[in-house]
Amino acid sequence: MNGHVLDELPIAVDCFKNTKNVQLFFLTHAHSDHTMGLTSSWQSKIHCTELTAKLASHRLGVRRSCFQTLELQQDYILTFRNKNDSCILHVTALPANHCPGSCMFVFETDNTKILYTGDVKPNRQLYEIGKDVWGLDNRKIDVLYVDNTYAEPACRLPPPKEAFDEIIRICQLHEDCSIFLGVYWTGHEDLLVEISTKLGRLIAVTREHLKVLTLVGDVTCFTTDKYESDLHAMPMGRLTKSFMQEMNETEKAIGIVPTGRRCHKNHSTEREDCIYYVPLSHHPSYSELCELIRVTGPEKIKPVVSGSCGYEGMASYSRADMSQFNHVISGRCQASPNPFTILTTAKSAEGVAKSTVGRKCGIRNIRKKSRSAKPVGVVFED
Ligand SMILES: [Zn+2]
Repeated sequence: MNGHVLDELPIAVDCFKNTKNVQLFFLTHAHSDHTMGLTSSWQSKIHCTELTAKLASHRLGVRRSCFQTLELQQDYILTFRNKNDSCILHVTALPANHCPGSCMFVFETDNTKILYTGDVKPNRQLYEIGKDVWGLDNRKIDVLYVDNTYAEPACRLPPPKEAFDEIIRICQLHEDCSIFLGVYWTGHEDLLVEISTKLGRLIAVTREHLKVLTLVGDVTCFTTDKYESDLHAMPMGRLTKSFMQEMNETEKAIGIVPTGRRCHKNHSTEREDCIYYVPLSHHPSYSELCELIRVTGPEKIKPVVSGSCGYEGMASYSRADMSQFNHVISGRCQASPNPFTILTTAKSAEGVAKSTVGRKCGIRNIRKKSRSAKPVGVVFED
């Protein structure tokens, strides 16, 4: 389970088991390792993005009325109780670029400021938007709960665009084959659309997969008629050597698995029998993780993924040991808060937030609330 009851506040993020004394629940995204304990009988309010609510509701049968949806980059004010006192909690969801609907959370009270990344893939937009949270003019982050999936120096990954191009190149090399693409139930939509667009071919999916794709966005790249295309998307876990052997008994076929799980030992495409393993992940590589920590500059770091064991073959892997980043925090470069060149076309976080002030949030009993020197947000009232 990759969720936590926070040590600092009565808040659970991606954690729906053993939640005694938790007053507020948050969900960063709908992947199964972040929703354990969440079932159709769940009763408490869960705060997440609209798309995560749709996906979690579809996948797990959780009632839609359980979800309190948050817009990205809006400042929300909630309350919790500390003994007999009512305490104010500011919450902002920021894009995480991990999978559809995914977000990070910023929690801020009078006493603490926490950035909880969940699963995250840092990119230019994330750093541009985040400047208004962790920039040098802002209150320092006390605790960073960070995506430590690949917190190991050996974990290197190429930029996603290179991996996309590599997969398309492999498809082009095998135009006489049926091609099976191993994907997660959600999270590889951008890759599938890119493949379909670049190759000018539809991708065959199951009816269940099409339902998920319909929730996420445009489905014009897909078909549920498996005879209409020789490009097939299928669950990654089922794309095995024995499956490919079976396919090759009747036709020429290859499999492609985009995965980061080999990134600690191999940094380029590997072919085993009929399956290509292409390094691609929507988690930060080790260098991306160091950059995220350096830029956000927290006082303290805690791992989102607990435990010391990693993937197969990572015997000495200790991704939960955050002391390995002490040198990154102490060496934070004051003059360079953004690792990327600032995009001249990007809206600032402030600009985006101002443009959404007063927008209908689909929440009953809301009222606008001013926050000094900050974008205006809304208050939830139970
Ligand atoms: Zn995930």
